[in-house]
Amino acid sequence: MLTDPSVKYKRYTPIDLPDRKWPSATYGAKVPIWLSTDLRDGNQALANPMTIDQKTSFFRQLVKCQVKEIEVSYPAASDTDFNFVRGLVENGEIPDDTWIQVLTPAREDLIRRTFDSVAGAKHVILHMYNATSPSFRNVVFRNSKEQTIELAVRHTKLVRQLTEEFAAKHGTVFKYEYSPETFTQTEPDFAIEVCEAVKTAWGKAGTGEDRIIFNLPATVEIAPPNHYADQIEYFGRKITEREKVIISLHPHNDRGTGIAAAEMGMLAGADRVEGCLFGNGERTGNVDLVNLALNLYTQGVNPNLDFSDIQSVIDTVTQCNDLPIHPRHPYAGELVFTAFSGSHQDAIKKGFEAQKVRHSTGENSYWDVPYLPIDPADLGQTYEAVIRVNSQSGKGGIAYLIKQNLHLDLPRKMQVAFYQVVQAIADKEAREMTVDDITTAFRQTYHFGGSAYQGRLALRNFKISSEPNHDNTENSGDEDERKRFDGTISVDGVYRVLRGNGNGPLSALLDALKTHLDIEFTIREYTEHSVGQDQGAKAASYVEIVPAGDRKSAVSWWGAGLDSDIAESGLRALLSAVNCAIGDRPLPELKLSVGFNASSGHDDISSRIVNALGLELPRRLQSSFFEVVQRAARDSGGEITYDALINLFKTTYCFSTPSNPRFTLGAFKLEQTGDGAGRQFNGEILFNGEKKSVVGQGNGPLSSALAALHPFIEGELRIREYSEHSIGEGTEVGAASYVELVYDVAGSKKRSAWGISIDTDITASGIRAVLNAASTLDIGLKKNATQ
Ligand SMILES: [Zn+2]
Repeated sequence: MLTDPSVKYKRYTPIDLPDRKWPSATYGAKVPIWLSTDLRDGNQALANPMTIDQKTSFFRQLVKCQVKEIEVSYPAASDTDFNFVRGLVENGEIPDDTWIQVLTPAREDLIRRTFDSVAGAKHVILHMYNATSPSFRNVVFRNSKEQTIELAVRHTKLVRQLTEEFAAKHGTVFKYEYSPETFTQTEPDFAIEVCEAVKTAWGKAGTGEDRIIFNLPATVEIAPPNHYADQIEYFGRKITEREKVIISLHPHNDRGTGIAAAEMGMLAGADRVEGCLFGNGERTGNVDLVNLALNLYTQGVNPNLDFSDIQSVIDTVTQCNDLPIHPRHPYAGELVFTAFSGSHQDAIKKGFEAQKVRHSTGENSYWDVPYLPIDPADLGQTYEAVIRVNSQSGKGGIAYLIKQNLHLDLPRKMQVAFYQVVQAIADKEAREMTVDDITTAFRQTYHFGGSAYQGRLALRNFKISSEPNHDNTENSGDEDERKRFDGTISVDGVYRVLRGNGNGPLSALLDALKTHLDIEFTIREYTEHSVGQDQGAKAASYVEIVPAGDRKSAVSWWGAGLDSDIAESGLRALLSAVNCAIGDRPLPELKLSVGFNASSGHDDISSRIVNALGLELPRRLQSSFFEVVQRAARDSGGEITYDALINLFKTTYCFSTPSNPRFTLGAFKLEQTGDGAGRQFNGEILFNGEKKSVVGQGNGPLSSALAALHPFIEGELRIREYSEHSIGEGTEVGAASYVELVYDVAGSKKRSAWGISIDTDITASGIRAVLNAASTLDIGLKKNATQ
């Protein structure tokens, strides 16, 4: 760029108009006549001009929008343009109240061809132009001013003669439009001189419908909009018989002020505007008619154009022009009714609420919502669903919808990934996608939210412990910071008990997947945010995984998780990503192998139990049962069948077999004691079938039941571990409880045993588990227990 651009670029020459009136005129006092030149000026600017089918659907759209004057083509320019006009006329496409306009240069053969194209039409505006600016006169055409006027006059007379012939032959009603092309670069007085000569040559200008149209194009926008307004006001003052003239604007947008130029031109007295929908047109485009009309509308002025289904207009125009509409385009861009900023969203929400009150109390009926100058509903949009997504839509809009509907604030890169998913669906189905389509696509892709969307791997239950928890040994407390994942995961519908270690819960789960399922990935990105507030708050997590060890991988998979527990949220997100990554590749099946040192044998046995009985054994019970299995396997020569395994479990833990436990639970009641923290157990326990009323106090239901047992036994029972989980589904749901009791009696070694129980009542389930455990210990009874 130049330091002094004035050596290269000339300033425009202002008009001396000190008493200009237009700055004080009232905006919207007059609604202009609109002419769409989409099918002519707009079409000429397309890399691929419209086909006849496209032009026809565009024409119908314009009719639907109530555009009453439509420039349909430059018929002499091509056969397509000529045939298109013939088709409109012959197929009766043109409503009786609509004028088609055809453009021709001032050349006899082209004028005659133009007339031929409209033969039989009811209402036609014949539009002729010639260039009038000095550079065109002197350089392009080498015409003097006189020759320029003579050219316009001679051909205007021909147009007049032909209109009379065609009117007589076809009953066509004609209007005549003359454009001094490059008006804004023409000396103002010369432009008027040419137009006066044309008006005289035409000789038929009258008032009302008989007015002659002088179209004053800013063929190239070369000056600020106020200058255009000055030129229009000057023309309007000087032209004679102003009442017999329609002053028409034809702004282009080279300086980005096409809208301003048109609005100031209207203030300066123009009667008519030529433009294109959404501003298509040569270079930076013609002035945007939708924008102009809706600017009037939001000032409370009916523009006489109908954009109440603006989406259908957008669809037609983008399909015909094969050009997108900018997402920030006034009134029409996909983001214009979207607030990404939380504070804006909040203000809009409050604005809607306050407005509802104002409207219902009759205070006023005005539209007044922050950040929304127009009610989206007036354009057939809603604020919530205002982004209508098709394959042309952007990722920002999709991310916004996910946030609105699922409360997920997707990381940037995940937005890109999901956008590609939506685009693929939109392309495949070749239709616009609704909000529902998009949220469903998200749920299906990321196996998010509910069993209906469950993936091949689904987290059922888990425990994260801070340190490796060596089976059957006390923790020494000096381990490193590593985490352990112990959990049950449904794999293709089969429960698998998995265990893994890592620096955190996610890497521990990855380790477990690698060990048990040959699934190997590396986490490249992890983020989280909270959703909701206070009690209802949840954590949303996002995980990106790549092939193991390949952090620079071009391929990656995303996953999302949501849970009130932040660790669970992260684990769910990881499984979500893994589900995306594994697709339908086969996974290693559950194999039962009982060895003496195979740690997988340990988990495989637990997997068998959970699938057969629904029991998700606590880790230490798994270890305990593993020892039982190993002993049984040794006794039977190293082999144990599946059925034998399940039976072994049932008999070992008195579980759902017709065994008669030594202690069983009768009717009971639990009451709060003292300050309400303790419990008192009042009820019946059957000792070998013999009913006894017992009472005991403790910190909770289990310890109070145990206390009730104590007066009848030798030695002491203590609960070492207790855990529970829900089991079953729907109305059948119950609680599974696991209790490990330690029995200490003088003269014997300490012993421990596990008890398991299932009950629809969680308290009863826990107490029964205590009694089942006690039943398997060889407990000495006091005399009072046996009568
Ligand atoms: Zn133009």
